[in-house]
Parts: sequence; C-alpha cells; structure tokens
Amino acid sequence: KESSSRENNVAKIRVVVRKRPLNKKELSRKEDDVVSVSDNGLTVHEPKLKVDLTAYVERHEFCFDAVLDQQVTNDEVYRETVQPIIPIIFQRTKATCFAYGQTGSGKTYTMQPLPLRAAEDLVRLLHHPTYRNQKFKLWLSYFEIYGGKLYDLLSDRKKLCMREDGRQQVCIVGLQEFEVLDVQIVKEYIERGNACRSTGSTGANEESSRSHAILQLVVKKHNEVKDTRRNNNNNNDANESKGGKVVGKISFIDLAGSERGADTTDNDRQTRMEGAEINKSLLALKECIRALDNDQLHIPFRGSKLTEVLRDSFVGNSRTVMISCISPNAGSCEHTLNTLRYADRVK
Ligand code: ADP
Ligand code: MG
Repeated sequence: KESSSRENNVAKIRVVVRKRPLNKKELSRKEDDVVSVSDNGLTVHEPKLKVDLTAYVERHEFCFDAVLDQQVTNDEVYRETVQPIIPIIFQRTKATCFAYGQTGSGKTYTMQPLPLRAAEDLVRLLHHPTYRNQKFKLWLSYFEIYGGKLYDLLSDRKKLCMREDGRQQVCIVGLQEFEVLDVQIVKEYIERGNACRSTGSTGANEESSRSHAILQLVVKKHNEVKDTRRNNNNNNDANESKGGKVVGKISFIDLAGSERGADTTDNDRQTRMEGAEINKSLLALKECIRALDNDQLHIPFRGSKLTEVLRDSFVGNSRTVMISCISPNAGSCEHTLNTLRYADRVK
C-alpha cells in the first residue's frame, strides 16, 4: 500500500485542489460556504434561481488526485505536493508547481512557503553522502512575466529576454542566479523579490494579480576548471559565468489571477491587453500540460511567453503539480467552478 501511494505521488502530472476557509469579510457578510470536501472529491452547491424566482441549489461534483480542505496547513500542502518530487530533482528531473485560481483564493498564501521548504530539503540532500562529493550546487532565481515580458525580481526589475540553444534548453539572458547555501537566504530573496513585483498606480495587490511570478531552484553540477576559464572570458551573462551543468530544477509559479484573463472587454486599453495576454498564457499552459499527459511529441509551448519560458520543463523527465486554489463563498461560485473546470481539463 505504502509503495503504491508513493509512486502515485511522483506521478507525471498531479492536480490538487485547495480550499481556503471563509475570511472575516465573508463571515461578517454571513456568506454561505458552498464547497464541501470528502476524500479526493469535492462538491460545489451553486445557489440558483428559477424563472419564477424560487431558489434552488445545483450540485457540481469533481474528483482530483487530492483535495485539501480548509484546515490543511501549508506544511501538509508541501508534503502532499512538492516533497515527493525533491529526491528526483537530483536525477535530471525538471519539475513545475503552479498555483492557479482567482485573485484572493489563496495562491500566494499557498505558494510562498513552498520554495523555502523545498530549499531546506534540497540543501539537506546536497550534504547527503550520496551527493556530497559530486560538486552539486543549488541556485535561485526569481522573475516575473507581466504583459508577456520578463522582469528580474532580484535585479531591480531588469527587463530580460529569452534565448533557446539548439538542445531545447531555455536561457534567460542576464537573469541573476544566487547560490543557496542556507535556507535563511531564500527567505530574504523571496522578500526582496516580492517587494519588486509590479505595482501600478492602482495598488500592489491589484497589479501583482496580473503577473506570473516564477521562482526557480536549480541544481547544477560544477566542473571547476571549466568555470574558471569561462569567468576569465569576461562573460557577463549570469547563466554562463556561473557555469555548471543543470542537473535538475523546480519552478514555483504563482500565476496571474485566473479571472484576469476575462478582462478582455475592459474600457482601459492596457487592462484589455494584459487580460488577453493572461488568457493566452493560461490556455497555452492547459494545452501544454494536456499534451504532456498524452505523451504527445509536439508540445505547443510557443503559445505564450509563460509556456516558452517553461519549455525545458515540458520535455524529457518532467513533473507537474497544479494546485488549484478555490474560495468557498457563495459569491465566488462562478469563479470557483471555472477554476475547477480548468483543473479538470488539465487532469
Ligand atoms: P491570491 O494570491 O490567490 O490572490 P492570497 O494568497 O493573497 O490570494 O490569499 C487571500 C487572503 O486569504 C490572504 O489574506 C490570505 O492570508 C488568506 N488565505 C488564503 N488561503 C488561506 C488558507 N488556506 N488559510 C487561511 N487563510 C488563507
Ligand atoms: Mg497573490
């Protein structure tokens, strides 16, 4: 039993739903909780009105790899989603963990602690007798995709561009990578990066819901002789000068609010364009994960900047975890159903 559940946890694609509790505002408005969870199933009780205005409830049932109820802690989320993948990062795996859902559903709450816990376990493995002598190092980078463009969150939002080498490896030119020697530093980088996330005139939360934030932890194998030679070459490219061959990596992606993809009819031109870009990227992401799941040879990663950046995580030995975050309140019912239908299509 135990071994089969462990195998299941490292499945190529895993779709997990997390429900957050009603918040103070929703409680004070006496909003109903319309989401009930049982094992890996979930029911949405959608309040509806007939034409004669009598009220009734429409039930929608779903089933996923796991459903995490409102009392589940972030530690448990980590154990259920990311932890089983960590050991295989050292075995040439490229893993991606997404948080999907409407703004306010708990994406950031869910995503923020995960890289910290992952770094803790990765650093522990670096020092493990199996890997201690292998010249492995752990690197961290943190960037954002906003309006289809890349910005380095650890380098004053420097605009970045992407390049592909002939072997389907993605290189983000100039992206700063920092070596992770201990976990405390990861916390500092995350805070630094968050302070750097897009904030427009309308306020921080509003704007950050329109961008995808991508934090990557990369294990590289370093051949010291080669590295020195490269450095002497006066190469300014962070990816190159830091040298090392990528062994495996894990990307944590706090996606733009899923409802933002619908901002395509907004009066404001900027908002409309951003909405179209978000819509495009979330659709492309769904298509790529489905193609992966069907072992399709052609992965349609060119559909958006997001999927292009993740190209090397969609080929070869990859793992994908989708955490779909949902709000429980009646007022969010439509968005919740949209999120669950998206997750259902990915599954
Ligand atoms: P998003 O990133 O999807 O817009 P947030 O992660 O910012 O949403 O969450 C919105 C609010 O709900 C925050 O105040 C957060 O602390 C709270 N919250 C989210 N998920 C949970 C949870 N599982 N338990 C308790 N509070 C939560
Ligand atoms: Mg957020």
